[in-house]
Parts: sequence; C-alpha cells; structure tokens
Amino acid sequence: MNFVKNKLVVVGAGMVGSAVLNSVLSLNLLSEVVIVDINDKKAQGEALDASHTTSFAYSPNVKVRAGSYEDCKDAQIVVITAGPSLKPDDKLDRLVLADTNVKVTDSIMKNIVKYTKDAIIIVVTNPVDIATYYCQNNFDYPKNRIMGTGTLLDTARMRKIIGKKYNVDSKNVHGYVLGEHGGSSFTSWSDVNIAGIPFDKLDDIFKVEAHADKEQIDTEVRDSGIEVLKLKGYTSAGIAMSVSRLVKAILLNEQSILPVSSTLEGEYGISDVALSIPCVITSNGIENKLEIPLSEDEIDKLNKSADSLKEIIKGLKDNK
Ligand code: NAD
Repeated sequence: MNFVKNKLVVVGAGMVGSAVLNSVLSLNLLSEVVIVDINDKKAQGEALDASHTTSFAYSPNVKVRAGSYEDCKDAQIVVITAGPSLKPDDKLDRLVLADTNVKVTDSIMKNIVKYTKDAIIIVVTNPVDIATYYCQNNFDYPKNRIMGTGTLLDTARMRKIIGKKYNVDSKNVHGYVLGEHGGSSFTSWSDVNIAGIPFDKLDDIFKVEAHADKEQIDTEVRDSGIEVLKLKGYTSAGIAMSVSRLVKAILLNEQSILPVSSTLEGEYGISDVALSIPCVITSNGIENKLEIPLSEDEIDKLNKSADSLKEIIKGLKDNK
C-alpha cells in the first residue's frame, strides 16, 4: 500500500471534526490533513482557517485542505466524526441518535471502502459503540483496523476527577472506565491506583478526610459529557484530544494500552457487541485486546453494558 506519509482524513467538519482537525495538527506528526463533509463549504472553511495556523513558528508546513472520499486511498488514518450530536434540550434518546447516525455511518463507510481497506478508521460518531459495531460487522474491512474512541474519553474524565480529589496530576492516576461510552459505563475500581497505591488506600495515604465515593465518581464520569453539553452546547476538546492520543499511538506504532471500542469475540464470555476494554494500539490498529482481571461485580457490569448495547443493535436490526 502506498500511503502518503502520515496523511489523515477527517470526515465531518462539525464541532468535533473541527476540534479534531486542530488537535491533530498540533501533534506535529502529520504531513497532510484532509477534511470531508456533506457540507463542502463548511469543510472548505475549516480547512482554510486551520491552514493559516501553519505559518506560525513551530508549526510544520502541513498541507491542510478540504477533499473527498478519494483522499482515503492513500491515507493512514480516517476519523469519522460526522452526524448529529445530542442537543442540550434533547430527551437523550440513544436509539433515535443510533438510527440516524448508523445511516450516516453506513453512507460514509460505503464511500471509504471504495478507496481503501488499509487505513485505520477511528469512529467517533455517537452512539460510538453502535457505530463501531456497525462499521466492523457490515463491511468487508479488517476488523482490527477499525476502532471506536469508546471509553478513552470517560477514562480521561475519571482520571481528572480522581487526580483533582488527591491533588495530583491526573496522568498519575491509572485505571480504566470500561464498557459502553454512555449510561452503563463503569470504572474497574480493582485496577485504579495512583503511584501503585490502590484506590481503597488513597484516603489514608493522601490524608483526605472526605471519603471518595466510587458510585459518585462513576456517576460524575457518566454525567460529565451531558454537563459540558448543557453548559456550552456541544463537546469538543476532550474528544479531540482522545482522537489525537489514538492518532499518535497509531502513527508511532506505540503499543500503548488504551481503552477503545471494538466487537468482542469471546473476551469475558461476551461476543457480537462492541464496547471498550483495554487494547494494545499499534500502526496495525488494535493489535491485542486485553482481558484484564476484573472482580465478579465488574464482570457483571460489563455484561449489563453488553446487554444494553445488544438491545440497541437488535432494535436497529428490527428496523431494517
Ligand atoms: P455537528 O452537528 O456539529 O457536526 C456534524 C457534521 O457532520 C456536520 O458538519 C454535518 O454536515 C456532517 N455530516 C452529516 N452527515 C454527513 C454525511 N453523511 N457525510 C459527511 N458529513 C456529514 O456534530 P458534532 O458536535 O461535531 O458531533 C459529531 C458526532 O460526534 C456526533 O455523533 C456526536 O454525538 C459525536 N461525539 C462523540 C463523542 C465520543 O466520545 N465518541 C464525543 C463528542 C461527540
């Protein structure tokens, strides 16, 4: 495959697509970034605006432009951010968003596969686990080369909340949010630690008086996307950084372990549904899915997450 070295295509030039565009440019790892949208003028505007940033010192002279699906043919990475988002006054009906965005994702994938089966596809469009499942299971595309951002963002939110509580850099908080990116996500508390100190010992070691409540933190993580949505009307910065993190891991063949969404194939006894567990990310995409040790309660929560997502998938199938 003749890639243009470090070429990335962003599909969708909305709030998330434009934030992703700017975030990946600041990685200073890309030679060409192309943005595609059904609204070509919006794509052109975003590309032109972003191209002006490359004149500044320390910005590499990246080619930034609006383009078409044909640009996927020599791209290393394609990021799908197209399709409507929940609005603050929506009833937060995931199934309605699922039906609409599966149709959007379907039309985009049909276009992408005309030009490539080599690019690593990062799915952002919500509900991201449903969109990822759809892309991985309805097209003749290598499954390991498709991943959803999944609970990478939820994990960042969990780490931020815990880091703030114990007054440490959230990058020193380890552990994962697993399952669905949404209402049934949960923290695998048995793995959470700061500098090797297990979560249950943090209050003593950091001499914190108010006990950190696991349920409360999980609820705060689950609600924080909606909170941002209510306050500013959309979410963009956190998800853009999540995509950038994946892009860096892919371009640099990092073998980093990140929680991303993919169709499980028997891990934890679960299959035929996409959700997030920690995965090894390389330039081949998902190199390995890690069945990290979980408590019985956590496995139960993972199954509940899988069941709730399967219900939505079943609803989609019934709608066909
Ligand atoms: P937005 O409405 O601002 O932008 C959507 C863009 O998609 C628009 O520019 C629209 O023209 C374009 N589009 C629609 N149909 C298209 C098609 N068939 N082909 C190409 N382009 C098309 O929405 P947003 O705030 O940018 O959010 C985009 C998606 O990202 C939503 O589904 C949102 O829920 C999701 N999102 C996911 C996460 C996550 O953690 N996975 C976080 C934030 C947002």
